[in-house]
Amino acid sequence: MVHNFNAGPSILPKTVFQQASEAILNYNNMGLSILEIGHRTDAFQSVMDEAQSLVKELMMLESNREVLFLHGGASTQFFQVPMNLLAEKATASYLDCGVWGSKAIKEAKLYGTVEVAASSRDRNYSYIPGNYTIREDAAYFHYTTNNTVEGTQMHSVPATNIPLVADMSSDILSTVMDFNRFSLIYAGAQKNIGAAGVNLVIVDPEILGKTGRAMPSMMDYREHIKNGSMLNTPPVFAVYVCMLTLRWLKEQGGVPAIQKINERKAKLLYDTIDQYPVFNGVVAKEDRSLMNAVFTINDPEVEKEFIATCKANNLYGVKGHRSVGGFRISMYNALPFESVVVLTDLMKEFANKKG
Ligand SMILES: *Cc1c(COP(=O)(O)O)cnc(C)c1O
Repeated sequence: MVHNFNAGPSILPKTVFQQASEAILNYNNMGLSILEIGHRTDAFQSVMDEAQSLVKELMMLESNREVLFLHGGASTQFFQVPMNLLAEKATASYLDCGVWGSKAIKEAKLYGTVEVAASSRDRNYSYIPGNYTIREDAAYFHYTTNNTVEGTQMHSVPATNIPLVADMSSDILSTVMDFNRFSLIYAGAQKNIGAAGVNLVIVDPEILGKTGRAMPSMMDYREHIKNGSMLNTPPVFAVYVCMLTLRWLKEQGGVPAIQKINERKAKLLYDTIDQYPVFNGVVAKEDRSLMNAVFTINDPEVEKEFIATCKANNLYGVKGHRSVGGFRISMYNALPFESVVVLTDLMKEFANKKG
């Protein structure tokens, strides 16, 4: 038995792996692989349609929202967002709360002015800043809902009338929230919704077409909307895996049901971290992420020992990001509660041994 705590690409439901591999050999009993059918066939159109409608249903989106599956990873959205939303002479406001958010800021500066509303860089991004103001003339306010590397998460949506844009790559569909508060949401698929190679973009078309900027068709959300997210060949297989994972999520009872499990997993792990002094939770408690828990062990020798213990017990992906060190335990939707039980039992045993 292995347990997969990888940060991304990461664990997906077993049934999704099973169904996806069957579809590679024989898709829907057509005698063809999903990899060899045209994207404009009925067989694939129905995959795209179902994936889009499951997103709308699971996120309870208003009917005017457009759901796109695009290429290029969330990192492409770092520049595609300002290209579409930020006029050259305008200012966008960004929250700087982690390595991903700071990359988004860097890219946005290529298209207009960026004002950083608040930053937690001063303490290695270990908390979420409070008490900041967002300038009233900002074209939009951008933030990362869950800081995958640092293990912090925004637990509420900022109260503002400025159009909200969020990178939800690592916590989309993990907790109930009012997704309609956002003008644009994007997420790389490889953490909570599917296989690497596709991005989910949800956009309110009202905010588009206002910058006066000419751009390549492939960068223009309006072109993708007009073409039903098939302006060119979509990442067919990656979209299929998303569709299967979304189906699975619906079968689990949707976002409210998975949230309960996510909360149980996170509580068990954080309680264990807090109970034993050998483990240090590095993140401000109120900002702890339900998806990625980060902790350290002060003594490098003891740290090595715990890494070896994890390895010997087939726990994968527990090492922290190189910028933070220590350990990062990713607990995405598909991670079973049992995996956290196995990990925390090991932690307890290890801590007791270390006295
Ligand atoms: C993983 C991640 C990204 C980067 O995604 P790519 O698809 O590799 O470009 C961006 N933002 C967040 C919050 C992430 O977790």
